[in-house]
Amino acid sequence: MRGHGPAWGTTLAILTGCLGPVASTAALPVAPAPTMAEASCPAGSTVDIIAHPDDDLLFQGATLVSDVAGGRCVRTVYVTAGGDDRPDWYWRAREAGVEAAYARLSGHANEWTTATAAVTGHAITQRTLVADPRISLLFLRLPDGGLDGQGLASTRGQSLKKLRDGSIGTIDTVVGGQSFTAAGLVDVLVALLRDFAPDAVHTLDFDGVDGDGDHSDHYAVAAFAAEAQARYSTPHSFVGFEGYGIAGLPENVVGPVLDQKRAAFLAYGQYDFLSCGVLSACGRRPEGAWLSREYTVAGSTPRPLPAPQPGAAPRSDSAGGS
Ligand SMILES: [Zn+2]
Repeated sequence: MRGHGPAWGTTLAILTGCLGPVASTAALPVAPAPTMAEASCPAGSTVDIIAHPDDDLLFQGATLVSDVAGGRCVRTVYVTAGGDDRPDWYWRAREAGVEAAYARLSGHANEWTTATAAVTGHAITQRTLVADPRISLLFLRLPDGGLDGQGLASTRGQSLKKLRDGSIGTIDTVVGGQSFTAAGLVDVLVALLRDFAPDAVHTLDFDGVDGDGDHSDHYAVAAFAAEAQARYSTPHSFVGFEGYGIAGLPENVVGPVLDQKRAAFLAYGQYDFLSCGVLSACGRRPEGAWLSREYTVAGSTPRPLPAPQPGAAPRSDSAGGS
């Protein structure tokens, strides 16, 4: 499944035949991508490496709220398109959704510039918030591997899980005709880290076990992120966030942080017809439980609380350890 659909855990290959294998489009317009050396990040910077457009909002949302409110530079790398075996418009809507969410978090208009970052031979689409270029989103657009990692029909069964365990040697983007090996994907992540120079690297659950109910893409992306951050020598913290399983843990996101996390996710939900765009609807779905929870995984190395920045909102750590 795409990650967080209404029938999560049950839907696979709904629209087989609607998509050709790796729809190819015109080449992306190549423009110089802003590098982080050009950004001013006195409050520090965070790179989030996640699987699907919405993992950041659901599983790291409280930390994301604090990072943005604290004036940190934030770059989120979405490794898969989260396509759910649906036509391209669906994953494009999800990308539009996370853009709306970050605009909501920042309090600025939902206006973004597009550039193509050339990274170790790959062209990566980068969107930067016009009113606050400290916020940028990168879309690698690899296939959604489905909950169990067996892949989806429209992307010929490719998945990050298979790439990681060697079942396939390469994985192709859902658009643009690019191909990644496992080593090549890690190389891209390392290059992105070196470019952005974060003092915090966040990802999903690098401590879990495949088949325990979380999404295969979450584990695979977290494993690739772990490899990448190990090669990134700038001092940094490395934090993994638990995925689906947090629904069974105590609520620990409350107050204004919860309000902002919800607001950002609901902004996203306006674009994802498989998700929820109003709180009452979310309450009948897994998202309702995920929104009020955030847990880091064992082995995470959280960074110290940053020094207060002039004009910055106080940081509120809502995440508990596990
Ligand atoms: Zn996900």
